[in-house]
Amino acid sequence: MTDLYAVYGASGCGRSLMPVARAQLKRAGIKAEIVFIDDGLSAEAIINSHRAMNYEAFKKITAATKYVLIAIANSQVREKISIQLEQDAIELWSVQADNAVLMDEVEIAAGAALSPFVSITSNIKIGKCFHANLYSYVEHDCVIGDYVTFAPGVKCNGNIHIEDHAYIGSGAVIKQGTPDQPLVIGKGAVVGMGAVVTKSVPPGVTVIGNPARILEKK
Ligand code: UDP
Repeated sequence: MTDLYAVYGASGCGRSLMPVARAQLKRAGIKAEIVFIDDGLSAEAIINSHRAMNYEAFKKITAATKYVLIAIANSQVREKISIQLEQDAIELWSVQADNAVLMDEVEIAAGAALSPFVSITSNIKIGKCFHANLYSYVEHDCVIGDYVTFAPGVKCNGNIHIEDHAYIGSGAVIKQGTPDQPLVIGKGAVVGMGAVVTKSVPPGVTVIGNPARILEKK
């Protein structure tokens, strides 16, 4: 029996990560099928030359071990699916682009997706199901929680702590903290695209602009 790999989500995020996933298996010399899982499908289909099916159909396939990369930008959905996978004894799969750079003492939990041109420098700890989209970087001494999402081009400088479920928009710049006083992006906070974050962001709020300010709910 062979192993089976899957990219969960066949929309924008999933279709962009499938080539990264394919390259990763090639690099490792593993000849196995990668399918898409998407619950929007009622019947098996072909998407970008890969078999695609919903989760119920995926579960019915027999394989030695199943590995799933959750390629859905919404972090709440990633958490929900990761819990389901654990219940079903299916492994979380992490993928990284051929040209992603990881330096010294980088610890990343399962389920990460590191897109092309991502750099993770030294002494960094990252939680479950992290998404770092194209050209994002994480500088030294950062601590990143579970289910954190970076859109393309996020500049996360040194000594920053990002809590669970935070979403950082495209091109946002986060000012570096210090070892004594890291800059903190609170749990579930959203940093708008292009924002320049100069101080800590409380949990659950959205910040936008330069310098980034809290967007008040109307
Ligand atoms: N999806 C799914 N199961 C879920 C929730 C979402 O298969 O429980 C799929 C959904 O059908 C859609 C994709 O995940 O195809 C999410 O795509 P979307 O365009 O919202 O965002 P993306 O994460 O690709 O940017």
